[in-house]
Amino acid sequence: MRLTKAFQPTLKEIPAEAQIASHRLMLRAGLVRQTSSGIYAWLPAGLRVLRNIEQIVREEQDAIGAQEVLMPTLQSADLWRRSGRYDAYGPEMLRIQDRHGRDLLYGPTNEEMITDIFGASVKSYKDLPKALYHIQWKFRDEVRPRFGVMRGREFLMKDAYSFDATYEDAVASYRRMMLSYLRIFQRLGVRAVPMVADTGPIGGDLSHEFLVLAPTGESGVFFDAALEEQDWLGRPVDCDDHESLATFFSTVTDHYAATDEKHDEAEWAKIPEERKREGRGIEVGHIFYFGTKYTESMGIEVIGSDGASFHPQMGSYGIGVSRLVGAIIEASHDEAGIIWPASVAPYRAAILNLRQGDEACDAICESIYGTDPENLLYDDRSDRAGVKFNDADLMGHPWQIIVGPRGAKEGKVELKQRATGERFELSVEEALAKIG
Ligand code: ATP
Ligand code: MG
Ligand code: MG
Ligand code: MG
Repeated sequence: MRLTKAFQPTLKEIPAEAQIASHRLMLRAGLVRQTSSGIYAWLPAGLRVLRNIEQIVREEQDAIGAQEVLMPTLQSADLWRRSGRYDAYGPEMLRIQDRHGRDLLYGPTNEEMITDIFGASVKSYKDLPKALYHIQWKFRDEVRPRFGVMRGREFLMKDAYSFDATYEDAVASYRRMMLSYLRIFQRLGVRAVPMVADTGPIGGDLSHEFLVLAPTGESGVFFDAALEEQDWLGRPVDCDDHESLATFFSTVTDHYAATDEKHDEAEWAKIPEERKREGRGIEVGHIFYFGTKYTESMGIEVIGSDGASFHPQMGSYGIGVSRLVGAIIEASHDEAGIIWPASVAPYRAAILNLRQGDEACDAICESIYGTDPENLLYDDRSDRAGVKFNDADLMGHPWQIIVGPRGAKEGKVELKQRATGERFELSVEEALAKIG
């Protein structure tokens, strides 16, 4: 993308309502604009980040055998009356009426809808297990929307649902999801620690939250450093084998990790001092096992191998896709701006032409840009070098390819790594090889 053609409205003034770094940076960098309280429009660079996160989530969910669907945002109130949650959910639910006076709602989550869809088509234990997910906007009328996209009212969630015949199979589904989540967060370039969680209004008895460590997080967190040091991507787990899943899962549960709601001082005291990590965290994911709660209340049954019908076991698994954009920035920024992990960055690199109109500079920039115009951002404005440096640091591209008249004459560019500030004098080929 050529910056002169791009819609990338960076802000000089820091908006007063933005209290935390990620919110300020998202507005300054032109990633989002608030359209009303807790509701945001995603601008091109922000949307690219959102799509990158979605894609990683999608690949890792597919990898454990979950299948993608897309359910609507609007749901019928009658569906929620069947589970008993229409009245129970409270004022966070946005309730709407259509022209015929029928009650609708903007979905805050999709347990009822997926259970209904599943129940209408699956009749036999032979069709189990199944795991379905979608990436769709949710609405929760939060009392205090704040911190930008971190606590929005309309927000993008990936929610998955598992259906199993037995408790043992349901636990295996839960563990598979745990693994998928750990891999997702590792690929996103953030450390999200799984912690024992309260089961809350969805109910059930096995639950973990995933928290990204950041001083502005809303939860206090206490955990064993061993959990941060794992390489989940490199770890071989056979997802079809209950034993293999159990071995993997014990790596998680053998180490203490809890939010302040579940913190247990006696257990905490048993951890060696040097491994204790205490701080604050942002909830970016949450997984639940809740058994037959919805299949029972909604009257969903399938036929078992013995010919008797039973209620399938369920779990639900959420990731805050739009919240993650803020959480990643919260965990990865400095005074100058955002520092994107390469996997989610809107562009692989920015090309900074320090003398637009200089023949050698323009030629080198064009040749680099031509190698991957989709994923490179070419700052081809006629602005001063300082403006380009500042904007590139603010936008947080992992690499800056800096092209000035002196180097250009010799076919050299300067490559700057945003995260470390390291600089390299390289040929164009070397620079392209290094940014990967
Ligand atoms: P919170 O405790 O922050 O209110 P929650 O526990 O109510 O979140 P869940 O029902 O567990 O949220 O939903 C799954 C995920 O959706 C959360 O882990 C979070 O990442 C995301 N999420 C929930 N509420 C919001 C929101 N208002 N804005 C953005 N993301 C959200
Ligand atoms: Mg909530
Ligand atoms: Mg929560
Ligand atoms: Mg939660």
